[in-house]
Amino acid sequence: MTEWAPGDGNSARRITASRTMRGESAGLRYGLASWAANLETSRDSQSHLMNIGLFGGTFDPVHRGHMALAQAAREQYKLHRIHFVPANLPPHKQRQPLSPFVHRFAMLALATAQEKAFIPSLLEAPKESGAGTRKDPAEKPNYTIDTVRRLKQSLKGSDKLFLLIGMDAFADIAKWHQSEALFGECEFIVASRPGYSLADVANALPEKLRPRPEVTRPFHKQPAAGDLVLPGATIHLMGDLRQPASATAIRQAVAAGKPLGRFVDAAVAEYIGKMELYK
Ligand code: ATP
Repeated sequence: MTEWAPGDGNSARRITASRTMRGESAGLRYGLASWAANLETSRDSQSHLMNIGLFGGTFDPVHRGHMALAQAAREQYKLHRIHFVPANLPPHKQRQPLSPFVHRFAMLALATAQEKAFIPSLLEAPKESGAGTRKDPAEKPNYTIDTVRRLKQSLKGSDKLFLLIGMDAFADIAKWHQSEALFGECEFIVASRPGYSLADVANALPEKLRPRPEVTRPFHKQPAAGDLVLPGATIHLMGDLRQPASATAIRQAVAAGKPLGRFVDAAVAEYIGKMELYK
């Protein structure tokens, strides 16, 4: 049975896909729920509950798109803290020569300096004292599942962890190490992009969590927005942030001698110039 309750445009839409005991699709239940209101309620009844965000990336360099994602997630999902985790050796970007960890961390520290809730994180810092300026050939890539578990060790059992990610990165999530387990460890907050449908989000899931095609068929006509709650995965979708900045464009702008003001914070632009990065 499919029920549809129209939204008022302000409330987050909550979409729940369920399965029967025999594992067959039982159809979809659509309903309205205000996610932020739910969070408020749970915080009232458990005053110690903290919503924590983990935002990983290469951050080479951190830019206004990253900051817009974090700000929007903090406001919409009432996050008390967001850990920005620069990857030392990201498994998916090993071919591209990355700037040393220490520079990427320094730029993150500058960009987050004015925001108490934004923490530049050393969770994936290189073990060697070289702070990432020298590559250790024996060093293993950082897997997000390990970072998430490490961060959770420092949280209270009542804290709730959210992984922040852009839609382009989420599209490859099924290829991540132990991706299925990752959905069991935390909820996802995904910054959507125009042109993505709810079906794109559902179909990006690791195979075991992916709803069957007959379940996702109606998703093709729906934009990637609202909360998608599936057995084993909860995904909160934020609308387009309208911040098209990318680190690639910034590196190209530096190489072409163009100004960086529209892409990065003034302190980050200053640092890039001083340290002669991306030349
Ligand atoms: P590059 O251009 O080198 O691939 P990037 O700008 O995508 O880098 P990353 O450090 O790889 O930056 O991204 C970290 C996270 O931020 C990813 O989840 C990515 O999807 C997201 N992200 C990057 N740019 C934006 C943007 N403009 N708006 C929203 N999310 C973004």
